[in-house]
Amino acid sequence: MMALHVLALLVVMAASPVVPRLVELSYTYNVDAPTSPKLRPFSMTVLKKGTNDLGIWLVHLLLLYDAYTYVSSEHLYTFTPTHHVTLLSLPCRGCRGAVTGWSSTSFCTSEHSGTHVDAPVHFARDTWPINEIPLERLWRVPGVVIDVSQAISEANETNFAIPVSELEAWESRHGVIPDGALVFIRTGWGAKSHDLAEYSGIDNQRRNNFPGLSKEAATWLATHGARHGHPTGVVGVGVDTISVDVGNSTHYEAHQAMYSRNVYGMENLANLDQLPTTNFLVTVMPMRIGGGSGAPARIIAELPEKHTGASHLIQASEGTRMNAELPFLLMAAVVGPLLRHLRD
Ligand SMILES: [Zn+2]
Repeated sequence: MMALHVLALLVVMAASPVVPRLVELSYTYNVDAPTSPKLRPFSMTVLKKGTNDLGIWLVHLLLLYDAYTYVSSEHLYTFTPTHHVTLLSLPCRGCRGAVTGWSSTSFCTSEHSGTHVDAPVHFARDTWPINEIPLERLWRVPGVVIDVSQAISEANETNFAIPVSELEAWESRHGVIPDGALVFIRTGWGAKSHDLAEYSGIDNQRRNNFPGLSKEAATWLATHGARHGHPTGVVGVGVDTISVDVGNSTHYEAHQAMYSRNVYGMENLANLDQLPTTNFLVTVMPMRIGGGSGAPARIIAELPEKHTGASHLIQASEGTRMNAELPFLLMAAVVGPLLRHLRD
């Protein structure tokens, strides 16, 4: 067995010398997800919840119990909205065999709560709704990060409108934004996301207050391809704030400038500080809502990374992943029969 694992590692290392490191750019979609206080917040209803008479449950062991027999839904554990995990019960008195758990909830949300994609049709008629954005503009798209956090902290203005000069300064340092790219604007506001009042800057007149793109900067991004003779141009722009516009915007001019040109938006992005400036790919997966003006999205960046340590090999090898699960498999093999013995 060990020889097989070593062989698998050697094959993987020879076949793919570079393994991507994946970075999560989405916040967990739950009641605490960063969201404009003006929008309907995410809510969830637990459809099934119960306890067994041993009062014991395990977390994330679904695969280990797949082989056991389903007995009665009365003995199933389901789901707690505070933890967002699947909880499974162990065998209980009166059951024949162990019980497989399940969870089931319904949820309700704005299209624009939490980490989400803004479809162009959000602010421009006759442009793409969320279900019509071409897949080539969503899957493994080259990304660049324009970090404007220093300019924002020096500006001492909450609703700081990012000027074109910041974008031009970036290009003078890092080169022209490549054709077909996603542009991520890092304001540093993501650090406030744990506190919705601070993150939104909501005031006593129910206005949000945070930095965003000026109309001119948004137009500069949306017309970048045309200026450089690029056939596609910038396909999307993402921010680590609630909106691509400044928080107190009333006319949403940055939205209009980009979406009218079929450039989509990404808002409430997480972990922009973990991305390099260039040389990474991003996959954007919004829920495919028919005619939607936006949708909750899973957004993941791929950073090229060479084999330099064991953690990368674990990502690459099914064999080592099996080894990581081995303690749990052994525990299940011992605990299940033991509890059945006690019950009987
Ligand atoms: Zn939105």
